[in-house]
Amino acid sequence: MSIILNSPLDMHLHLRDEAMLSTVGPLSSESFAGAIIMPNLVPPVSTKEELIAYRTRILNVTKEHTFTPYMTLFFKPTYTKEFLESIKNELTAIKLYPAGITTNSEGGVSGFDVDELRPTLDAMSELNIPLCVHGETNGFVMDREAEFVSIYEMLATNFPKLKIIMEHITTKQSVEALDKFENLYATITLHHLLITLDDVAGGMLQPHLFCKPIAKRPEDRDALRRVALEGHPKVMFGSDSAPHPQHAKESCGCAAGVFTSPIALQILTELFVEHSTVEKLQAFVSGNAQKIYSGIKVPSKTITLEKKEFKVPNKYGEVVPMYAGETLAYSIVNVKG
Ligand SMILES: [Zn+2]
Repeated sequence: MSIILNSPLDMHLHLRDEAMLSTVGPLSSESFAGAIIMPNLVPPVSTKEELIAYRTRILNVTKEHTFTPYMTLFFKPTYTKEFLESIKNELTAIKLYPAGITTNSEGGVSGFDVDELRPTLDAMSELNIPLCVHGETNGFVMDREAEFVSIYEMLATNFPKLKIIMEHITTKQSVEALDKFENLYATITLHHLLITLDDVAGGMLQPHLFCKPIAKRPEDRDALRRVALEGHPKVMFGSDSAPHPQHAKESCGCAAGVFTSPIALQILTELFVEHSTVEKLQAFVSGNAQKIYSGIKVPSKTITLEKKEFKVPNKYGEVVPMYAGETLAYSIVNVKG
């Protein structure tokens, strides 16, 4: 039996820059039709010139494939309405990071003062620019996301016209928040549908599964699986695939991030088939995102998968993927477009 996916989208992706971009860019563009590109370079993407230049560098390394990079800016409360109007046609969303919470987020927001955020968030609401949020506090590592739910609620209530995407959710509290506020949406990664903290640190420490937000408890994973597998209209696939060179993962001071771009569609297919919900996969990997990000233009591209073993390479360049060296049940057998 073949499984056909039309224009799969990765709604949260880290492509990095320079040599790393050349390695990982084509690994996303070969099987995805488009992706929301995270802006946390050094320095973060925060001007029109930087955004356009970064998009050009991405298009250069992905030009063999049909692929649209949907660009984002690194949120700053100093963005004016005039500035946002001038850049609106170049960007798809703006990403907010709490200060210092993950890779290259030092310049992010500290303290969530509504009055300070209001001018920029009101302008984004008017211009229909979605706000993507890395939702973690500086609290205890297992509680950071659940603690952040009150900030999501504050944002959702104060800015009812703003589309707020809770990025890479990992807890049942975030899943519950989805249905409480009309303007809250979420992305879910591949790895958070698969692993819990036990897989990261329950036995020998697994640096290639270490990420932010950290994988949580089995009941959290179950809550994520439930909404993903039912094709819940407010959730979208966003891999948060985040490459680091092997030496930065297998070291004292392991960098956070799991690299999944080249294996994501194969494993999602297996997961949805296993749960007899494969008819919901199209919504999870593309349809919901197209409705939530209502303005995006999606290139047509058809991916065919079949039940056929796929041996995951040990490395892609210097990057070790999730399930390195293991054999997956499904393969991509054809890409059209
Ligand atoms: Zn991310």
